[in-house]
Amino acid sequence: MQTVITIDGPSGGGKSTVSRMLASQLHYAYLDTGAMYRAVGLYARKLGTDLESPGQVEEMLDSLELSLLPGDGDTRVLLGGEDVSEAIRTAEMGMVASRISALEQVRVKLTELQREIGAKGCVVAEGRDMGTVVFPQARHKFFLSASAEERAKRRVQQLAEQGEVVSFAEIMAQIEERDLADSTRALAPLKPAEDAIIIDSSRIPAQGVVDFIMDQLAAA
Ligand code: C5P
Repeated sequence: MQTVITIDGPSGGGKSTVSRMLASQLHYAYLDTGAMYRAVGLYARKLGTDLESPGQVEEMLDSLELSLLPGDGDTRVLLGGEDVSEAIRTAEMGMVASRISALEQVRVKLTELQREIGAKGCVVAEGRDMGTVVFPQARHKFFLSASAEERAKRRVQQLAEQGEVVSFAEIMAQIEERDLADSTRALAPLKPAEDAIIIDSSRIPAQGVVDFIMDQLAAA
């Protein structure tokens, strides 16, 4: 198993910031698997795919051309050559991604793509099922969370930085809905791997979490 560090957790738990910082500090690649689910959601929307129809989902996945390019901040995501990095980051696309991520065909396809990227080694893989399903053999697994209120606050701020104005109550409701759907779905539900180190980042700044992870890596 090449070196893969998995970082899982619910939305707004600080995974993206921490994963990006960690990858940059270690000179590792950063694999943003949420961006992949969001991109598939956007693609299915563009095609008008009926998610209830396995045949249509299969066709959509067969024609999917998805590539991830490391960027300065967020990963750049290309759909058939078109840069959709901004289009997939909206709150609405988060909900669409959550719905599409419950489909087995979608999970099988994306798991395969994620393992191909992981096989190159030196990767920080961020998502919901990195430590449990995609890279169960990874030596270093972390599960990052924070209180629902703190997570909602962070999401509102993140979206505001992208120019999307949303109410705290609306985001809090969406976070609760998305977390419930993600953790109760039959396939690859959101949960810590048995051998993951759980970190509550409610009161720790991102750099503090990165320092803690670096200490754990050094001690392993
Ligand atoms: O992390 P992000 O908010 O971008 O993820 C969007 C959605 O994609 C999540 O709510 C979840 O339903 C889905 N997802 C997943 N498995 C992953 C990463 C994301 O099911 N590994």
